[in-house]
Amino acid sequence: MVAASDIAELDPRAALRSTFGFEDFRGRQAEVVERTLAGQSSLAVMPTGAGKSLTYQLPAVMLEGTCVVISPLIALMHDQLRSARANGIRAATLTSADSDWRETQDAYRAGELDLLYVAPERASQPQFRDFLASARIALFAVDEAHCVSEWGHDFRPDYRMLRPLMDAFPGVPRLALTATADRQTREDVLAQLGIPDDGLILAGFDRPNIRYAIRHRDNPVRQLADLMIERPGPGIVYAQTRRKVEDLAQKLAAATGRQVLPYHAGLDADTRAANQATFVASEDMVIVATVAFGMGIDKPDVRFVAHVGVPKSIEAYYQETGRAGRDGDPSAATLFWGAGDFATARARLAEVDEDRRNAERARLDALAGLVETAGCRRAVLLRHFGEDPPAQCGNCDNCLDTPGVTDVTELARKLLSAVYRTGQSFGMGHLQKVLIGAEDDRVRQKGHDRLSVYGIVEGEEARLLQPLGRALQARGDLLPTEHGGLALGGSAREILKGEREVEIVVPPKRQRGRKRGGDEANPVGDPLFEALRELRRELAAEAQVPPYVIFHDSTLREMISTRPTTMAEMGRIGGIGGKKLEAYGERFLSEIARH
Ligand code: ADP
Ligand code: ZN
Repeated sequence: MVAASDIAELDPRAALRSTFGFEDFRGRQAEVVERTLAGQSSLAVMPTGAGKSLTYQLPAVMLEGTCVVISPLIALMHDQLRSARANGIRAATLTSADSDWRETQDAYRAGELDLLYVAPERASQPQFRDFLASARIALFAVDEAHCVSEWGHDFRPDYRMLRPLMDAFPGVPRLALTATADRQTREDVLAQLGIPDDGLILAGFDRPNIRYAIRHRDNPVRQLADLMIERPGPGIVYAQTRRKVEDLAQKLAAATGRQVLPYHAGLDADTRAANQATFVASEDMVIVATVAFGMGIDKPDVRFVAHVGVPKSIEAYYQETGRAGRDGDPSAATLFWGAGDFATARARLAEVDEDRRNAERARLDALAGLVETAGCRRAVLLRHFGEDPPAQCGNCDNCLDTPGVTDVTELARKLLSAVYRTGQSFGMGHLQKVLIGAEDDRVRQKGHDRLSVYGIVEGEEARLLQPLGRALQARGDLLPTEHGGLALGGSAREILKGEREVEIVVPPKRQRGRKRGGDEANPVGDPLFEALRELRRELAAEAQVPPYVIFHDSTLREMISTRPTTMAEMGRIGGIGGKKLEAYGERFLSEIARH
């Protein structure tokens, strides 16, 4: 081991290979690592799954002294600890949940720790500063660094005490990490943590392995069951209320025969913790949850995230869908929306304080734009985060199966005038009957068969009434009334007066029960793959860690495609560093030899 000043001697790629078994850096990892090794401070803003932890773990292994990691959640720290140790990194945590305090402190003082994880509350105590002074610090890493800023969404006052702590150790480089920081938050984090402006390393927000898809929700249980068949691995389903969570969990389990467990704040803490632990350890379980679930969960092999109902904002959608595919394998983010989601959210705007109302409306408009676009979903998302993406990504529903766009200005005028003439108090079902001229008792009773709008929509046009009604509700041109009817809102009057055109996306023909089971990436059912998974499960149970801590699926796949016969060949496979080769190499070699 060497001091930061002797970095000429160091080869980060060799260390990457020997510790993590990775062939190369991803995205902008190399820059972050090089700056840190050169003793410079940085703020790395990288999307979830980009590999932030490696950017401090690798310098921690290479530099003399200990890397002190400040992290806000005990669960996160323990996850990190497990993965780091599996790679042979000497790591420890100092939290209220640990009993090995004395050992950890002794190891630190003896210079025998690469990584020491602590919570910000502890880091800010004076005794802790004295303790740190008793040995050499290689680096300060501040995880979830947006917590230091009041602009961020998770302000933690204790993060403000980190600056004085780090200032007490001048010359020790600082590395702040976060996945979510808009410009204001970034500037604040730099200032609050004393990192120079040129230390900002901003990686793109794109998650190319996630396939975004947004569909109208007509039968959520069936739609989710189809998704589970398409993506047989672990998945998260977000639903909006506890009741829906319970209901969906039960129905999905019945419909698919898979293990499906609920997670929401109404369950007692033990059940919640147990369901979460089962999910983290599982290779095919689905958890149905409220948005309370996910924070601090670091499961890399989540194959899909589904939303039943529109999320709170594009930011929330991006963060929640970002829990899919952290391991880089193909994954899905599928949103099932209904007109009612927008209608209720827009109705609620009236209760919001006036100064916040515009911002809230803009939030909903942005979501409606994402849901309603006929263009690339990824492009809409990335533009929202200030990027300038290509017009087509090739990996979202609209790029793969481009929907049509139809001018429905005339039809919209017919629908809106029916709303108006029936007194702005009827729902879509009734309005449709009036417009297509249905023989219907209620229509007759109300005298709506005598209105000028009765029967003015026919044939092809009638088919577009439903999607048009949804679009107008999403955009706020139709608003719900208290009693389940629809009233004019937004730009309805301009449309009626012929001052505004209306286009809608025509959904592609429904693709039911398409693809068979079988991951896009994994050769599920292949005897060797199944045997290697079985072995991985055994080793995971022995070590009491989730299977992905042993090896990722991509490592198993590479074993199948290269069929190593020697330890040296095994050691060249991605994800197999020195420690894992020693621990598991022989067992996997002999399993491969048997097939
Ligand atoms: P983040 O903290 O940014 O969300 P993680 O640090 O959890 O991301 O890394 C996500 C996954 O990517 C991990 O499973 C990690 O092993 C893997 N990974 C990180 N860097 C590389 C790399 N250079 N090559 C291959 N896989 C990597
Ligand atoms: Zn696309």
